Amino acid sequence: MGGIILKNAGPLCQLQAIDPGVVAGVDLGSTRIKVVIYNGTEYIARMRDATCDPEKTALALLRETCTEAGLVSMPTVIATTGYGRRCLKTATLTFTEIATHAKGAFNLVPGCRFVVDIGGQDAKGISLSADGSVEDFVMNDKCAAGTGRFLSTMGLALGIPVDSLGASATGGEPHRINAMCTVFAESEVISLIHQGIPRNAIIAGLHASVARRTASMVASLHPVPPIAFTGGVSQNADIVRRLSGELGHPVIVPHDAIYAGAFGAALLAWEHQENIHK
Ligand code: ADP
Repeated sequence: MGGIILKNAGPLCQLQAIDPGVVAGVDLGSTRIKVVIYNGTEYIARMRDATCDPEKTALALLRETCTEAGLVSMPTVIATTGYGRRCLKTATLTFTEIATHAKGAFNLVPGCRFVVDIGGQDAKGISLSADGSVEDFVMNDKCAAGTGRFLSTMGLALGIPVDSLGASATGGEPHRINAMCTVFAESEVISLIHQGIPRNAIIAGLHASVARRTASMVASLHPVPPIAFTGGVSQNADIVRRLSGELGHPVIVPHDAIYAGAFGAALLAWEHQENIHK
């Protein structure tokens, strides 16, 4: 991730051509801030680690992304979403994470009927109707277990960067992790390391626990395919495989899965703008 990401692979200069019609979606996540600039046809996406000053970081990223897109001014419509969505005072619109992730995922995986999003601090499941509108949702934002934070903490205990956990599980027969709480699971992992349990087995066990928890959280919504998997944790291929197994259907990780919320916010901003000019 991190390169210029363009839908329809059009030249970036197309953005300049319709400068006044450009909108922005900003996802102020718990671990990363993502910006999507959208012109109705294509988009450019950028992200940066969140800081203790989310507004400043988001504004800097927004400005830089606009400059990179060749814009001479800030977009007239800026829509925010995510954990820190109310931090950006210059925003013109604010949407819930459910609304933006549903919108973004439905456009990244056309026709999808269910969205699983696992980010830094929460996990959610959203069922969609055939036209992409939200039918129902469940969310865990009360406990770190089963979220990106859980995996980052375990990665630290194991001395493995979170973005290498997927590959590090290769060949591991999952070792059962009994603790449900992140703090206790960390102690359990440290104890397993001391007992000489192979790291790939510990990691596979952690991934199995995340997949089980997620499947159990969304079970009441009876997920049907196509199922989109978005958020940072979707980049972990071992979790993708295990979650597919737990749900009994393959989960699809679209290109730009990390940007689903910001992209959804930009799409909703675009619709808002079009409605105004009707
Ligand atoms: P938020 O919107 O809350 O900031 P994200 O959707 O950006 O959350 O997801 C962040 C989480 O995703 C991190 O806590 C980390 O566990 C996980 N993550 C991020 N990048 C990767 C990666 N390349 N591979 C595996 N996991 C990742």
